[in-house]
Amino acid sequence: MPAMALTPAERNSSEQVQCGGPQKGCGKPLPRVGRKPFLAACAPPGTYPPAPTSPGDEMQWHCHGANYEELISNLQKRGILTSLHAAAAMSKVDRKLFVPATGYAYNDSPQVIGYGATISAPHMHSYCLSLLADHAKPGMSVLDVGSGSGYLTAVFGLMVGETGRVVGVEHIAELVEGSIDAIKETPAGELMDKGRIEVYVADGKLGYEEAGPYDCIHVGAAAAGRMSVICSLM
Ligand code: SAH
Repeated sequence: MPAMALTPAERNSSEQVQCGGPQKGCGKPLPRVGRKPFLAACAPPGTYPPAPTSPGDEMQWHCHGANYEELISNLQKRGILTSLHAAAAMSKVDRKLFVPATGYAYNDSPQVIGYGATISAPHMHSYCLSLLADHAKPGMSVLDVGSGSGYLTAVFGLMVGETGRVVGVEHIAELVEGSIDAIKETPAGELMDKGRIEVYVADGKLGYEEAGPYDCIHVGAAAAGRMSVICSLM
């Protein structure tokens, strides 16, 4: 559950939001940042996420780009974003639209998006999308559990196209609302208008059977008490 959930009234009327992150939230009021008022960042630059601690980490954390194209290119050069199908879709969904306007959109690091949630790091998205690329081809069906910012849901949408279907489930209503707005600002918005991308407030533990069966299920939510990203193939 979010450390600090705002009521719709608070969200719409206040110039302040409560810190819900990065490490379970300090609860302090924060200035609104980013294009969405509820997307709150509270960590001073450089303090979150933590520096890499193991040798393998450095490569992943060093894909930062000066712009989005460079970020994607670095992920490809490092052999992390291996699927051209995934890369083509990713390049159309600017990460900037899904993160607070703190100037770190193209850093290869997770970003706090409020309510104790984060958007995953681009290298994590890249690994998952590349692993799942053969199961997210045009016409296929994807379930994205813990859809959060909606970034990955949008990318999956472009991968499966207008003959496919993507369902995102997220248990924080404010994030669902924001993700829908953000997705609509990308080329995937057209797919959402056509009902090919849907995002619901739901408990991902229950899945989303109504729209199944799925060709693949991506789980980017908490599992067994820790944050993890799991890619499942069906
Ligand atoms: N894939 C997303 C978010 C990753 S963070 C992105 O990269 O933007 C994990 C997300 O899972 C958070 O938004 C969190 O609120 C959500 N979550 C955690 N437990 C959940 C549950 N039981 N059901 C639905 N969503 C859940």
